[in-house]
Amino acid sequence: MNSHLPYSKFDRQERLSIWDQSLIEKSCVLIIGIGGTGGEVAKNLSLLGVGKLILVDMDTIEFSNLNRQLLFSKADIGKNKAKIAKKVIKKRYNSTLKIEAYSDPIQSLPYRIFEEADIIAGCVDNFLARQFINEIVIELCLPLIDSATDGYFGQVQSVNPRKNACLACDFPPPPEETRLLSAPCTLVGTPRIKEHCAWKALYEFHTMNDREPDENSPDDVQEITNLANKFATDHQFPLFDTKEIIQLVLYHVPSLITVNAVTSGIQSQEIIKTLFINKMKLFKKKDQKEFKSLIRAQRFRIPDLTIYSALTGNISSFNLINDPDCLVCGNSSIYHQTPVTINVNPKLKCKTIFTILKRRFKKNYIGFRGNFIIPAEALIENILQDGDRITVSSLDDDKEKRIRIKFKKKKG
Ligand SMILES: [Zn+2]
Repeated sequence: MNSHLPYSKFDRQERLSIWDQSLIEKSCVLIIGIGGTGGEVAKNLSLLGVGKLILVDMDTIEFSNLNRQLLFSKADIGKNKAKIAKKVIKKRYNSTLKIEAYSDPIQSLPYRIFEEADIIAGCVDNFLARQFINEIVIELCLPLIDSATDGYFGQVQSVNPRKNACLACDFPPPPEETRLLSAPCTLVGTPRIKEHCAWKALYEFHTMNDREPDENSPDDVQEITNLANKFATDHQFPLFDTKEIIQLVLYHVPSLITVNAVTSGIQSQEIIKTLFINKMKLFKKKDQKEFKSLIRAQRFRIPDLTIYSALTGNISSFNLINDPDCLVCGNSSIYHQTPVTINVNPKLKCKTIFTILKRRFKKNYIGFRGNFIIPAEALIENILQDGDRITVSSLDDDKEKRIRIKFKKKKG
């Protein structure tokens, strides 16, 4: 607060009913992906006065980002997005904000970061990252507000673990005009239109190769086309040629600053509302009462899915019911298991720890940060961190086990 002014710079928003600035200031939001929407979300949340932001993006700034990613300038080309965003936000929007920036892939971030966050803002543009974030939020029971844009369309999905659908749930098709955009959500279900087969093929490619395909590699394009045609044949759709596949799933999607701004605005607002709902107990007693009555009357609610079409100007919201057979959040999901905590000596090599775990639980496979690791010799050494979650399993039984690694503290 500027000392000679009688009010805080948040005065205008503090005049709102159902608003608690101190609650926002005590919150920590983890934003994954600092591109077109993520950068806007980071700007919005810092201006709203969120206390701490953790920014994650391994990408570097490109010339083609500059027409819509307002935190970056020409001089930043080639530098890391999260690190530049941190510098610019602190300088331009909120100098008192606590802010951390990570340029690592999300799969190698320490669990501490996820555990510290009150909520995650998912602003990524690829399946592997989205899949990983979805699993983490279900496991840690952490709310996620995820966004995606594609040309004239934007969507925001709210995942409230164990209450509504996750990103991997198979839910009924949205309206015609937005069905392509929502295709990534149908990865685990039956393809309902031909294009879904291409998305499923891309998903399959990620699972088999554990990397993004290269649109300039004829081998990658052919592999995805073959996979898509396998799905198309199974579900009686016409076959794809390689050109169609490139156009559908391998080109960078078109992107508009206006759609990013609307989508990230909706996403930021739903983040603040989710913080209010989850921390309602911190509101003053009188406000709590008013808040609860608004929720009961459905005058304050967080839609499961919001879709914006810049072509029609429509913003529609939908309820998404969770799928009991969903592999990530369904009834038999491994993420509902409370992990067994195992104390390990941090000096031991990762390979040794995994060998001990496999022997102790009589299992052959180790699942770790989105990968299944066999054999242990293939591991990079010493990448295990305190708090990491590991899955042990065998092909001959379906009883996977979750393990939480706890590093033994040095004595004295
Ligand atoms: Zn699910």
